[in-house]
Amino acid sequence: MHISDVSQMEAVLARGDRRLGAVLYDVWKDGGRLDSWDEFFKADRWYAAFEKNGLDPAFYANRTRPYDEVMPWDHIDYMVSKAFLIRENEKAHQAIPTPSCREHCSGCGANQCLGRACFPGGES
Ligand code: SF4
Repeated sequence: MHISDVSQMEAVLARGDRRLGAVLYDVWKDGGRLDSWDEFFKADRWYAAFEKNGLDPAFYANRTRPYDEVMPWDHIDYMVSKAFLIRENEKAHQAIPTPSCREHCSGCGANQCLGRACFPGGES
């Protein structure tokens, strides 16, 4: 077992879609339990489940995604706008930091659920 396999599966699960349900079920049927613990993780079990279901882990974890790709979680309204996330991603690639929310509201949209500024004295 290599730590990189654990990281690979973490990336897959973080970015995956509903098709991973069958993979998770097959890993579980094959005895997968507590797989985030190194002593229980078996990479072969995961890769076999992907192959059985006709899925490639690299599709989820090892490619650049265009900003206009529909993400599995796009139907969930968590108040933070996709435009904000794209802006933050572009800034990250340029190593431009975003100020703390207590210093300056960067306009993510999360304050919409509050109907006011996130912090006393902050922008809304
Ligand atoms: S202060 Fe609130 S609305 Fe502004 S960026 Fe931070 S979390 Fe988002």
